[in-house]
Amino acid sequence: MIVLHGYAAGKGIAIGRAHLVVRGVSEVPQSSLKTEEIPNEIARFEAAVKTTRKQLEQLRGAIPENAPTELGAFISLHLMLLTDATLSREPIDILEEQAINAEWALKIQTERLSQQFDEIDDEYLRQRKQDMLQVAERLQRNLIGQSTELNLEATLLDDTILIAHDLSPADTVYFKDQRVEGFVTDMGGPTSHTAILGRSLNIPSVIGLGNARRLISEHEWVIVDGIGGVLIINPDELVLTEYRRRQKEYRTHQRALNKLKKNAAETLDGEQIELLANIENVDDVKAIHNLGADGIGLFRSEFLFLNRDTLPNEAEQYEIYSELVKKMKGKPLNIRTVDLGVDKNPRWFGNNSTPNAALNPALGLTGIRLCHAEPIMFRTQMRAILRAAVYGKVKIMFPMIASLSELKQSLVHLETAKKQLIERGETFGDVEIGCMIEIPSAALTVSSLLKWVDFVSIGSNDLVQYTLAVDRNDDSVSYLYQPAHPAIIKLLAHIIRTANRMGKTVSVCGEMAGDTQYTRLLLGLGLRTFSMNPSNLLSVKDAILHAHADKLESDVVKLVRNEDPDKVDVLLKKLNEAA
Ligand code: PEP
Ligand code: MG
Repeated sequence: MIVLHGYAAGKGIAIGRAHLVVRGVSEVPQSSLKTEEIPNEIARFEAAVKTTRKQLEQLRGAIPENAPTELGAFISLHLMLLTDATLSREPIDILEEQAINAEWALKIQTERLSQQFDEIDDEYLRQRKQDMLQVAERLQRNLIGQSTELNLEATLLDDTILIAHDLSPADTVYFKDQRVEGFVTDMGGPTSHTAILGRSLNIPSVIGLGNARRLISEHEWVIVDGIGGVLIINPDELVLTEYRRRQKEYRTHQRALNKLKKNAAETLDGEQIELLANIENVDDVKAIHNLGADGIGLFRSEFLFLNRDTLPNEAEQYEIYSELVKKMKGKPLNIRTVDLGVDKNPRWFGNNSTPNAALNPALGLTGIRLCHAEPIMFRTQMRAILRAAVYGKVKIMFPMIASLSELKQSLVHLETAKKQLIERGETFGDVEIGCMIEIPSAALTVSSLLKWVDFVSIGSNDLVQYTLAVDRNDDSVSYLYQPAHPAIIKLLAHIIRTANRMGKTVSVCGEMAGDTQYTRLLLGLGLRTFSMNPSNLLSVKDAILHAHADKLESDVVKLVRNEDPDKVDVLLKKLNEAA
């Protein structure tokens, strides 16, 4: 029995027999060319690029209805990478300069690009290396004349678990129609597209296992634990029995949760809790209605600004926001103005002005600071939102506010945006205004901020990072990233109490809101609005249905006062065990 650890992608437990995805480019031919052979070789390379493009376009057109909504966007990204000069033109330059065959030129260029990706500081962009390699591999296979598709049909047993070195978004197009119980890959990190697709496909999966494929034989029994991020190869009887029990338990729990979609989120003592969703793109709205969420508590609008060479203009943004508002069918939509910087740096920033070039990007020109530094971008976005607000209930929220002066400055920009619309004779709707509380200074001065806004939303992801001085993206200090640290609990208690006292809405939209470890604590602190990743909504609702809000409020008093992290840990466990 071998146990390997990777990143949990699709939740759940799969037990089955391995099917090794044998693909990859076995041997890349290498030869030198005579001058007169070069034009033909260039034509052969260009034909392979064309074939690759056609294949990806066909796959994009063949995405089944029930496939994850991100899939189309991921395949489009692969098409973009393919047509980029670095993959479609530079290998030709190498081929000409060195008079070598197209396959070898592509290999040289792929290695160069890999190295460039490895040097990128930004975690999200670095992970795009995997996408580049997937496109380059498809192109290489077309050049060599190898099959590019996953031919699964013939070989799949009922309990197949795919074991692949890597799976590209294109590979997963037909997954929903296949009997794939689970999958694992050697490649991929937590924000890779394989991980995102694993989550959306709802297939137990573990990725980033390093060397798993080489350790597994065809049809060998494996367990994929997509909850703990573990792969067990050739499990013994005892482990199999235990995992069968866990699998059954997980499935029963999921079925029970699915029945809660239409239930109101109400505590045992009759407190109505508002459950909202966090989304990153328009297509996620389907999930909102499907799960019975009360609205969108956080639309991370900056994702519209990423993966492109130019800023989206007002008309383009207006189209997107209007479509989104209409799709909400009267439920509230809270649009956060762009929160760029740190790990989200669009290409159109240019090299020198990129905030990531700063020594401490998380303390630099990010969030609202960047909006103020780019007032045209900021006001353009707000004009588009204001115009879309005629179609429904829209809120605007400012990210990363550190002080009242920043909030006031944002409100001045908002007024200017409104004036600009009035001058243009454009109609626009009423919007509620709020700001995020994710910096300790904002948390401690929240009463002054609340006088100027309709609501606040606590971004616990950043609040933990800035309060504890722990980089949220740095694995080496992740053990110090403690959302239930006494300092965080005190700040949460202060913000929630102040907002409730002032009669203003307060929500939490960081990961804490979707983690059932903290549901009872947050209810006890007086929180009545939670906004989270849609995948967590039903389990949080389940916790709410079993909670007595009034009792929790008295139960947490001791916990809030305690300043010893270990003791707080014990008190939190007790609070949760009492459920
Ligand atoms: C947060 O910081 O908690 C938050 C919701 O914002 P983001 O995760 O997008 O930084
Ligand atoms: Mg944040």
